[in-house]
Amino acid sequence: MASTGQILVLNTGSSSIKFSLYESGAADLLLKGLVENLQTGPTRFLVQDAAHDTVHEQSWPQALDHAAGMQALLAFLDSSSRSGGGGGDQGLRAVGHRIVHGGALYSGPVRVSEAVLAELDKLVPLAPLHLPHNLAAVRAAMQMAPGVMQVACFDTAFHRSQPALAQAFALPPEITELGIHRYGFHGLSYEYIASRLPQAEPALAGARVVAAHLGNGASMCAMHAGRSVASSMGFTAIDGLPMGTRCGALDPGVVLYLIDQLGMDVAAVQDLLYLQSGLLGVSGISSDMRTLEASEAPRAQLAIDLMVYRIGRELGSMAAALGGIDALVFSGGIGENSVALRAAVCRAADWLGVQIDAQANAAPGKSVVRISAAASAVSVWVVPANEELMIARHTLDIVEQS
Ligand code: ADP
Repeated sequence: MASTGQILVLNTGSSSIKFSLYESGAADLLLKGLVENLQTGPTRFLVQDAAHDTVHEQSWPQALDHAAGMQALLAFLDSSSRSGGGGGDQGLRAVGHRIVHGGALYSGPVRVSEAVLAELDKLVPLAPLHLPHNLAAVRAAMQMAPGVMQVACFDTAFHRSQPALAQAFALPPEITELGIHRYGFHGLSYEYIASRLPQAEPALAGARVVAAHLGNGASMCAMHAGRSVASSMGFTAIDGLPMGTRCGALDPGVVLYLIDQLGMDVAAVQDLLYLQSGLLGVSGISSDMRTLEASEAPRAQLAIDLMVYRIGRELGSMAAALGGIDALVFSGGIGENSVALRAAVCRAADWLGVQIDAQANAAPGKSVVRISAAASAVSVWVVPANEELMIARHTLDIVEQS
């Protein structure tokens, strides 16, 4: 593998490795794709170019593990690089990794070393479902592409600018000193929104903005002049809004009741709250918003109504943290695509002076679009999520500083 050229961005989850390849100078997207159904099989590897045309497809009848998936990806990039196809001909300059948790230590991206990995290993109990996969990918990439710089970009880092009060729990210090406080997640998505919004509307550079990243995971963030002030996710990525399969904010007394009265153990509670709740749990049908919107079942509507209600409540809380609101942003798979959900959230935010433009809302397209009426006191925007580009930019910055 060559040592100069492109930036590879990796987002590794429990069953997939998503990747994007950028030309490093301008951070232009060259290729993107994923290896999916790892561990469960049949494993599939798909690569598309910047125009979304498929340039490579491969599948295995059996389940590949993460290491084999990574091997397939790097082998493809290597051969693509040598043949000059898609990825150009200069090879990898650095790999940027999306890392779910950076704890209290990391408030920005960092070049990965053995010492950094040792620190990140200590954070695994804070994100047991995600962080082990993230770190395994870093180690695999270090081993398979020695000499290529690895950069860790954290979902928590953007929120370290929050005031101490916003990060605090009302718990005794001997508990909070163990690192038990609010961290916030989806930070790379919010950081991208903070960078993108003033390009669309320069007057918003110093504004009070509430952004909602609504995908399978969902959260909201209050930002003032592009800095995080409050977030709906806290100690873990389960807090705040109801999500595809996660319950969101819950009276902690419910957890005690589940254990004490229903005899559930930690694994059963974790499974219930992370995997069987949210849109899936309430609807009993699906975690997928498209399926629920197409369903006639009352429970599907109830799941959507509950999500809209909780977004509305959280919006009030975010506006309070900011002392007002100038702009509201929707992002993520649901935020970018669900016309009905955006309309319902904006209706519920009428008291804040939010007025949606129904026509603009119905056709937001794939770039940054304003969907509020001209008379709206709060401008409303759709900003397509692009955490990968944020990671590529951070990685490039670290490469250039080194
Ligand atoms: P992830 O958090 O895994 O990256 P996404 O950001 O892709 O997830 O969001 C997935 C969610 O977006 C799913 O609930 C899906 O149903 C929803 N979604 C995607 N397209 C649409 C659409 N056209 N209308 C409504 N919801 C949609």
